[in-house]
Amino acid sequence: MKSLGLIFPDQLSKNNLVYENLNKDDTLLYFEPVQTFYDIPHHKQKIIFLISSLRKLISSHNRENSLHKKISKQPPKLKDTLKEILQENKFNKLYVTKPSDFQTLKDLMFFCQIHSIELIVLKDTKFICSNEDFQSWSAGKKSLIQEFFYRWIRKKYSILMDGDKPIGGKWNLDKDNRKGASAINEEIPDRNNIKTDELIVDVMVEVNEIFKDSFGDIDNFNWATTHDEALKQMSWFYKVYFKNFGSYQDAMKSDEPFMFHSLLSAYLNAGLLDPMECVVEAEKLYSTENIPLNSVEGFIRQIIGWREFIRGIYWSNMPHYKELNYFENSRNLPEFFWSGNTDMHCIQQSVDSTRKYAYAHHIQRLMVTGNFAMLAGISPSQICDWYLAVYIDAYEWVELPNTLGMATFSDGGVVGSKPYAASGKYINRMSNYCKSCKYNPKNTTEDDACPFNYLYWNFLIKNEAKLSSNPRMGLIYNTLSKFKDPFKEKVKRKSEIFLKEIS
Ligand SMILES: Cc1cc2nc3c(=O)[nH]c(=O)nc-3n(C[C@H](O)[C@H](O)[C@H](O)COP(=O)(O)OP(=O)(O)OC[C@H]3O[C@@H](n4cnc5c(N)ncnc54)[C@H](O)[C@@H]3O)c2cc1C
Ligand code: SF4
Repeated sequence: MKSLGLIFPDQLSKNNLVYENLNKDDTLLYFEPVQTFYDIPHHKQKIIFLISSLRKLISSHNRENSLHKKISKQPPKLKDTLKEILQENKFNKLYVTKPSDFQTLKDLMFFCQIHSIELIVLKDTKFICSNEDFQSWSAGKKSLIQEFFYRWIRKKYSILMDGDKPIGGKWNLDKDNRKGASAINEEIPDRNNIKTDELIVDVMVEVNEIFKDSFGDIDNFNWATTHDEALKQMSWFYKVYFKNFGSYQDAMKSDEPFMFHSLLSAYLNAGLLDPMECVVEAEKLYSTENIPLNSVEGFIRQIIGWREFIRGIYWSNMPHYKELNYFENSRNLPEFFWSGNTDMHCIQQSVDSTRKYAYAHHIQRLMVTGNFAMLAGISPSQICDWYLAVYIDAYEWVELPNTLGMATFSDGGVVGSKPYAASGKYINRMSNYCKSCKYNPKNTTEDDACPFNYLYWNFLIKNEAKLSSNPRMGLIYNTLSKFKDPFKEKVKRKSEIFLKEIS
């Protein structure tokens, strides 16, 4: 009896374990029409990136006994495609790398069970830590703290270590990663142009036709679609932006959508780049090129700390995680999340970049759109669908814990120990957005008050019963308790009017 191997568009790692488990006469199925492309209005650039990358991989493999199911207007369901193959070409084993979402894994399990097929789910080689590693680290712990996970991985793989001590004496240089936009005293270099070849243009035409009503511009498509090109992008980042990455990691500036960020998440999450390769190179540059430690440590922490931790959280908590709604929020997502049509300049900038490039950097996602969604009480499922649809790097394993956990605290504290709630004062400190905004970040109850300010206090008032006993919120609730009732009433009233207007 034969086996079938299955490759999804985000499983492009060179060392994907499916290949080594198949014999020459086993069939390999490359499956493009991922269900979520059709369920939510995915950014066109994301579909173009994934389909182009997959098609280039297929032509480089040139494998006999392979099947290629393409995107189409009437997409075949995965289970129907598998059934067809089964009827024509019996197989009793199905090899797949762990999919990027729980539902696909469940569908595969169900299919294999009813057809008496053995399902072999392989380790995903685009991660450093396997799910088993994460489980063994988390076993017996009451709460999972990212910082300790990060230190554990650093020690385990001896990354930025001097014996058993962290290089530089500190594990985490986050405090040195918080300079605002006003401290930037040099031009931010433009991104290089990546060549759009014929295959990509063909895919663009196809995607534009099939996903007519989907979100996003395609004109600015500038993504690598092969392993070699992705490596070049990594080198370019290290050469041009890396030294400033650390200091300005949290800074935001008008019309600077990329700042000093790496733009590597799309490649890491699709398997075009290997995380350990990135980390080893970053560490090397610390000694060979004198890249500042706050950049090197900060970057490595994002990859081996946050990226791996977030994935562990996803698989340890699904499927119930997706249903969490700690604040019981139900407000509809405002239309300006799609159009960018709002007077709030910070949101307009973040959505604009999202629409143009399928990209917004971390602080825009966390402290602008995510923070706003939490303060405004947007339904977690609607905001999660938005993040999943609009970003080039978005898959449920990474989008969900970042949105439900880090950005909106809808998970009640699984990812973070307190909400990342902030008023307009934070955005004003880290960016130059407020200078071009109709609202005033210094005002809370006046006519021109920044909506983030009154929504922030309104959020704290509304959720006092849930948050005031959190030791990390003590200080802020102490401040709130000193505010007079008329101020609180004004804050509530202004929030009510604003939220009604945007609904
Ligand atoms: C609400 C919200 C939703 C998000 N959704 C996604 C998503 O769908 N996909 C995604 O890859 N990241 C997501 N992130 C994390 C982060 O914003 C992106 O990884 C980052 O902006 C990608 O841009 P970059 O490659 O330039 O990252 P850089 O700032 O250059 O960081 C380097 C790398 O670190 C990794 N990284 C950094 N932070 C995180 C994190 N919190 N979780 C996972 N990896 C991280 C990424 O691989 C990234 O490429 C989300 C964050 C928030 C707050
Ligand atoms: S004033 Fe408020 S709404 Fe305007 S950019 Fe600043 S934080 Fe955003």
